[in-house]
Amino acid sequence: MPDVGDDALEDLYREVILDHYKNPRHAGRITGEDAVEVELQNPTCGDEIRISLRLDGGPIADVRFEGRGCSISMASASMMTEALRGKTLDQAVGMSAAFKGMLAGGPAAEESLGDLVALSGVAQFPVRVKCATLAWNAMIRALGGSTAGGRGDA
Ligand code: ZN
Repeated sequence: MPDVGDDALEDLYREVILDHYKNPRHAGRITGEDAVEVELQNPTCGDEIRISLRLDGGPIADVRFEGRGCSISMASASMMTEALRGKTLDQAVGMSAAFKGMLAGGPAAEESLGDLVALSGVAQFPVRVKCATLAWNAMIRALGGSTAGGRGDA
């Protein structure tokens, strides 16, 4: 990941990102008739991800990820799976919008994004934004929504 500076907050954010990268939460794959999964790639970085999730006719009952790629793409996926459990579809879509807004340089809404604010520094590196949004685009597609990107690419 890029060096985003040396002040204390950025050091903290770097620690959070590396922790999720090294100890991914909810890694794995959900199988079964009621599981939905979507694979996406980010060719500009080489990141690959598969998001699988299960809805019990309501909130997101389970969401997991598998993949390989840079620390930003994997940490974002790990944080996302943690943040989305138990959320309704509307809440998940709203969180995705808030996260992408932050990466576009908007304010970081800490109360709604939690650990994800650690990725706010990515906004300074536009080429890495696709790394951070890869898992989210796969999740939205899995929920039956659509993303602005082309098929198969974030
Ligand atoms: Zn990447």
